[in-house]
Amino acid sequence: MDESALHEKPAEFLAALRDHAGVCDAQSILPADDHYVCHCTCGRWDVSAATREEGLALARAHTAEPGG
Ligand SMILES: [Zn+2]
Repeated sequence: MDESALHEKPAEFLAALRDHAGVCDAQSILPADDHYVCHCTCGRWDVSAATREEGLALARAHTAEPGG
């Protein structure tokens, strides 16, 4: 499987997310009102950050967790 392949359909994207469940494959940091919502593909990391920079730092800390 080519993990870098683009997922053109939402269903394919969701299937890919499920394939990667439990794996810290990618983190998203999305603006929401006055803060940022951070999510990880492992599905066990959903936090909010005051700034995008803070979100990136939290994401780095999350993926650096031993055994994560
Ligand atoms: Zn994760």
